[in-house]
Amino acid sequence: MNIHEYQAKELLKSYGAPVANGVIVMNAAEAEAKAKELPGPLWVVKAQIHAGGRGKGHFKEAAAGEKGGVRLAKSAEEAAEQAKKMLGNTLVTIQTGEEGKEVGRVYFEDGADIEKELYLSVLVDRGTGKVAFIASTEGGMDIEAVAEETPEKIATVTVEPKDGVTDEVANKIVSALKLEGQGADDGRELVRTLYKAFTEKDMAMLEINPLIVMPDGRLRVLDAKVGFDPNASFRHPDIEKLRDESEEDELELKANEFDLAYVKLDGNIGCMVNGAGLAMATMDIIKHYGAEPANFLDVGGGATKEKVTEAFKIITSDPGVEGILVNIFGGIMRCDVIAEGVLAAVQEVGLKVPLVVRLEGTNVDEGKAIINGSDLDVISADDLEDAASKIVKAVKG
Ligand code: GDP
Ligand code: MG
Repeated sequence: MNIHEYQAKELLKSYGAPVANGVIVMNAAEAEAKAKELPGPLWVVKAQIHAGGRGKGHFKEAAAGEKGGVRLAKSAEEAAEQAKKMLGNTLVTIQTGEEGKEVGRVYFEDGADIEKELYLSVLVDRGTGKVAFIASTEGGMDIEAVAEETPEKIATVTVEPKDGVTDEVANKIVSALKLEGQGADDGRELVRTLYKAFTEKDMAMLEINPLIVMPDGRLRVLDAKVGFDPNASFRHPDIEKLRDESEEDELELKANEFDLAYVKLDGNIGCMVNGAGLAMATMDIIKHYGAEPANFLDVGGGATKEKVTEAFKIITSDPGVEGILVNIFGGIMRCDVIAEGVLAAVQEVGLKVPLVVRLEGTNVDEGKAIINGSDLDVISADDLEDAASKIVKAVKG
């Protein structure tokens, strides 16, 4: 789960990180009054979307002007004017894809003078299973490009969970950032602050790009991107409140509500499967037969008829779905429950695309009898290969 830059900054500020003062604008009418809450002389006007690269992005609508999603203004009036141009318009960046994202909130921040732009992020390194800091002197740009072209300019510093941020860890990061004097002191403190926030809040990713050095040698967090581990969200009701549903995929939100593990993909074959492993195998075999899955969907072990019905409805409401494959291995899950759920969903929303059902395991005969006894136009399959080849054939014609 991701949050906006202004929310991330507020969170980091509560831990003591150096962040500028700012105000959030939710609609055009309040823009000027909000801008006047900041003293100037420099206002930064920042489109809030869950994607980076805003500064170098562009708006689709001509009315938004030629500049990107991060603009500088020299008066409160000018800041308000720029915010109004952004609100309701579509910002396209390297991370949004061509369709872009509609800007619903704009952040005003006290502008800083920049001496140097650095890069600092925290993540969970899957290789070591530990938290690691990534530090580079090459901030403000696309870090993937830096990694590609000048990998020697990126340092990775791993934190031992039992020790936390030791002096050695803090010093390594600070020297990778080539910080000295006051900047180095600020840097060591910031590293400890970020580690505390990262671990306490169960973050999955925390990226500061850029972290800046100001002319007085002090550091400031100029941009912040934070993502959280969704498996720990039950521990953080305060973070859950920061969710901006307009930034999330509608079908994934619906799935979340019914506790279904669903990820939307770009293919045309919708899959309803029980068990993450079987779901992965089903996606693989669809690809093997020359088509692409439209989603990952695991209805889980002990799903009810209602849950199966919702899952089916989510699949059918994806306009990209041209065929559906139901692949169930009944263990804890009973095949008759699945069959009833599929029937209930079809009665409710109809069925406009071919449907292949493969059932195996507990109560398989009852399940098959329910499907066969209905007037549903279902293609039944005996095993995984049979099922995948049948649905691909039905879709490709
Ligand atoms: P991103 O493009 O989405 O990564 O947005 P950032 O928050 O990183 O801002 C992009 C760029 O705008 C930064 O790299 C800076 O060069 C510039 N910028 C942002 N805030 C300020 C500021 O307070 N003062 C100045 N002078 N430039 C800023
Ligand atoms: Mg940035």
